[in-house]
Amino acid sequence: MKRILVTGGSGFIGSHLCERLLNEGNEVICLDNYFTGSKRNIIELLGNPYFELVRHDITEPYYAEVDEIYNLACPASPVHYQYNPIKTIKTSVMGAINMLGLAKRVKAPILQASTSEVYGDPAVHPQPESYWGNVNPIGPRSCYDEGKRCAETLFMGYHTQNGVAIKIARIFNTYGPNMNVNDGRVVSNFIVQALQGKDLTIFGDGSQTRSFQYVDDLVDGLLVLMQTDASVTGPVNLGNPTEFTMLELAREIIDLTGSSSELVFHPLPQDDPQQRRPDIGLAQELLNGWKPQVELQQGLQHTITYFENLLSA
Ligand code: NAD
Ligand code: UDP
Ligand code: UDP
Repeated sequence: MKRILVTGGSGFIGSHLCERLLNEGNEVICLDNYFTGSKRNIIELLGNPYFELVRHDITEPYYAEVDEIYNLACPASPVHYQYNPIKTIKTSVMGAINMLGLAKRVKAPILQASTSEVYGDPAVHPQPESYWGNVNPIGPRSCYDEGKRCAETLFMGYHTQNGVAIKIARIFNTYGPNMNVNDGRVVSNFIVQALQGKDLTIFGDGSQTRSFQYVDDLVDGLLVLMQTDASVTGPVNLGNPTEFTMLELAREIIDLTGSSSELVFHPLPQDDPQQRRPDIGLAQELLNGWKPQVELQQGLQHTITYFENLLSA
């Protein structure tokens, strides 16, 4: 039995990861400061004697004896990471240093939840790992983008300098149950708006694209990546390569919910990437042929059911 630390474990992705790790027979320490996470996401795990919940902020040192570390702690929605930009970058940078220090001391492999945001508003499409990105270092998204870029640098530094076994996953837009109602990202916003009969808020003209990955596909990829040979450090893109415009997403959600909501247009936020789609060739090569299995319509249906239950509770 392995003892596995998941930082950000009560957040959206972290809660799914904790559940999967427990189901596979591991002991899990879920560490979170509840900035955007919620106990509701992991409430069903609390009765499991192999699940341990720790309220802790990763900008502070943390000591425990563990066999593997998944570092997910960081607000991920633009609304939340821009709320306190200094705290966001501290979480990415000081948090990475602390978790890497822990990994070094206990000689545990550590996986970093990096992001497609390291590519910024990409001039290369789709984005391969070899693309260095196009990031504004002083814009409203920079606390997140540069924080995550610096975290990648720290991971590589601890690997080359201290021999820490690292895995960097560049995660593309992921959605599913356990997203916060007030998360602010597009999939949960549109679903909640559609279910409440409110107009769907399209930023800009809705022609910008994203490629949406269902959370179960991501968790599969993260688990396989963690088990790869020590020579595999990444970065590796994990995402669904099927690309949609925000208008297409809005129409799909209106169709699936049968909502009478309409579309309302708001200004496009500064530095909002115009297009995003992962090149997953490297992931397929390194991760035993891993590729996303869940199509948008199917994943949206699961997510809609989740929010229907949540909103009617
Ligand atoms: P989320 O906001 O639901 O989860 C983040 C979790 O981290 C929350 O539980 C939050 O309370 C916790 N947290 C934040 N700051 C912390 C701190 N200083 N100390 C301890 N805990 C802290 O977001 P998510 O979508 O589940 O994202 C998880 C990770 O995956 C993040 O690192 C994010 O950057 C990365 N990621 C997510 C996506 C996506 O589309 N969901 C895409 C790329 C990368
Ligand atoms: N650290 C931690 N848990 C540990 C070991 C280290 O939180 O189990 C923190 C420690 O407080 C330090 C950081 O990780 O600030 C980096 O550790 P490292 O050993 O790389 O650096 P040093 O302690 O030499 O500054
Ligand atoms: N977006 C939108 N309406 C919303 C929320 C977001 O049109 O209510 C747009 C946003 O401008 C961006 C895309 O949807 O172009 C994805 O936004 P999200 O915040 O989900 O993620 P990110 O921009 O970080 O990929």
